[in-house]
Amino acid sequence: MNASQKIALVTGATRGIGFETCRQLAQAGVRVLLAGRSSASAAKAADQLKSEGLPVEPVTLDVTNASQIAAVAADIRSRFGHLDILVNNAGVLLDDVALKPSEQTLACWRETFDTNVFAVVALTQALLPLLRCAPAGRIVNVSSQLGSFGLHTDPASPIYGFKIPAYDASKSVVNAWTVHLAHELQGTPVKVNAIHPGYVQTDMNGGAGELQVSDGAKSSVQMALLPDDGPSGTFTHLGKTLPW
Ligand code: NAP
Repeated sequence: MNASQKIALVTGATRGIGFETCRQLAQAGVRVLLAGRSSASAAKAADQLKSEGLPVEPVTLDVTNASQIAAVAADIRSRFGHLDILVNNAGVLLDDVALKPSEQTLACWRETFDTNVFAVVALTQALLPLLRCAPAGRIVNVSSQLGSFGLHTDPASPIYGFKIPAYDASKSVVNAWTVHLAHELQGTPVKVNAIHPGYVQTDMNGGAGELQVSDGAKSSVQMALLPDDGPSGTFTHLGKTLPW
């Protein structure tokens, strides 16, 4: 291994935007730990990228599993001593779009927040000491424009008529977490930013998105590879600022 090669961990990377984020980071020369909750799926996805000649290896990580988070953090510490890039990409959309906001089940709210919110906080807390050991740690929180209060309250916005409250609120919390962590990290080399990947053709929307995954991964990759003078505490899509 090249001692100066950056190390990245991408969660929920067995398919969709996370998988493509691994590909593009590895194409940029980053050594990528491709994390998936199924060991077999992670191995298969990593094998595919390895067959493209890319420096990718699988990691088993259900982001809601505290002992797996601890094991991954210990493994990265013992093998590398630091982590350059964390992409919190794993996410679920469990709301029943046929139901009104008031009708979504509490189970849906709880499960959504377990994966989209509490796991992001828990994994970040576990890996932050390792990100602080890197020369220029970067955290990317994969949010959504559906987490934007500004867009949800603007009748002219394209998402005004689409309200899936558990998912939407989970991404609003990811945005809030990003702002709070960025404030804590002021004056350190570690930057944390939230991104909206775009409306991307993945399993999450049954392939109905507008962007192909090759474009849908670009916002994450851009913020993962930010230079030292790049921003922190932002919410963007392809470099364009979005309303909180
Ligand atoms: P996707 O194709 O459904 O992929 C989701 C990924 O998350 C899968 O690899 C899945 O793993 C993983 N995952 C779910 N729960 C997990 C857990 N507990 N532990 C580890 N991995 C878990 O979705 P996507 O569209 O690529 O979404 C990626 C991110 O982008 C999400 O955070 C999503 O909210 C966000 N996003 C997507 C869009 C869009 O238009 N697609 C728009 C805005 C934001 P399994 O294979 O094991 O299920």
